[in-house]
Amino acid sequence: MPIPGTPQSLGFFFVLAAACLAPAPLLAVEQGPILRIAIVRTSKPVVVGGDTVVVSGKDFVDTQPGKGVFEFRVKGDSLLVQGEDSGQSQLRVSSAAGQLTINRKSWRGELELLVQGREMLIINSLPLEGYLKGVVGSEIPPNWPMESLKAQAVAARTFALRRRMEREGQPFHVEATVDDQVYGGAASEHERVSEAVDATRGEVIAHGRELASSFFTACCGGETESAREVWGQDLPYARGVPCKWCGDCARSSWNYRVPMAELERSLRKARLILGRLKELQPGGMTSSGRWADLEARTDRGVERIPLDKFRRAAGYSKVFSGRFTVHQEGAFVVFRGSGSGHGVGLCQAGARNMAVNGKSYRQILKHYYPGANLFQMY
Ligand SMILES: [Zn+2]
Repeated sequence: MPIPGTPQSLGFFFVLAAACLAPAPLLAVEQGPILRIAIVRTSKPVVVGGDTVVVSGKDFVDTQPGKGVFEFRVKGDSLLVQGEDSGQSQLRVSSAAGQLTINRKSWRGELELLVQGREMLIINSLPLEGYLKGVVGSEIPPNWPMESLKAQAVAARTFALRRRMEREGQPFHVEATVDDQVYGGAASEHERVSEAVDATRGEVIAHGRELASSFFTACCGGETESAREVWGQDLPYARGVPCKWCGDCARSSWNYRVPMAELERSLRKARLILGRLKELQPGGMTSSGRWADLEARTDRGVERIPLDKFRRAAGYSKVFSGRFTVHQEGAFVVFRGSGSGHGVGLCQAGARNMAVNGKSYRQILKHYYPGANLFQMY
């Protein structure tokens, strides 16, 4: 049943169902639309294995009965299969069991191999629900309370569907990295995660007639951030809420000490500054207490760096959040901060403690996405 079953959400269902679900057998629809994930980019040979593997292209087909492996590599703009030129720049690989290995790591669904420049791009395509089983446990630990796993499953499902719509017609919908959601394939599946995904199957976060942008963050540090402050998107359900639940997260406080010369190299490489770095200071502050940008004093004057670009260049796993003080100690720059992640949307550490305190995944999602509603999409 649609939740909460308003006429608006019903209209929303039909619009989205038409956009996302091509006519397909009932079982396929129940597992959600096919999602395409970029999982490997390499210039090295890869070995794909499975049970009764079929390799096919526009003018090419090869198969191996029983358990077998194929080796692929890029030569010019063509793919070599077992050392022979296939004459194809794009190949599809499937198996009778619906599961394949790449260099012994296991993936559900099918693979598509594409030549891109001098590299091979491998795309994994599989129904959305299967993807979620390989993604939720990479985002949060599978031993966390069930209601927090369910909240993450719904947020992850919504995030993937948004990306799918935004990137329709492109070679793939999502990256398998922190740029979208960390996805480890069948090797990352866990029984408790699968239970959380199955228990919320097809459920998404909506705002009015649209899928919500269901951002999530590791630990907000006391108040979530507005999407407008980070990405310039004014979303009514992502304007930031107080969070009293994440005080004990792994990154509730952190330090990072880096040589000024090293920081300068990172910022110049990312083309965020042009001059020689002399001093780094915070710029403006957002209403939730994070820095909106930083001021780099260089021999070319003051160069302003938006926070998200700064964190990306310095390292998301070094400058963990936008809540910090910064000062110089001799040749070093020292950051002291709290929280982890961009701070927008669901606070994962907060969701964990809300679940510990008896809150349901619906209560968790309503807290972190105020004004949004849950909707049964399929
Ligand atoms: Zn929090």
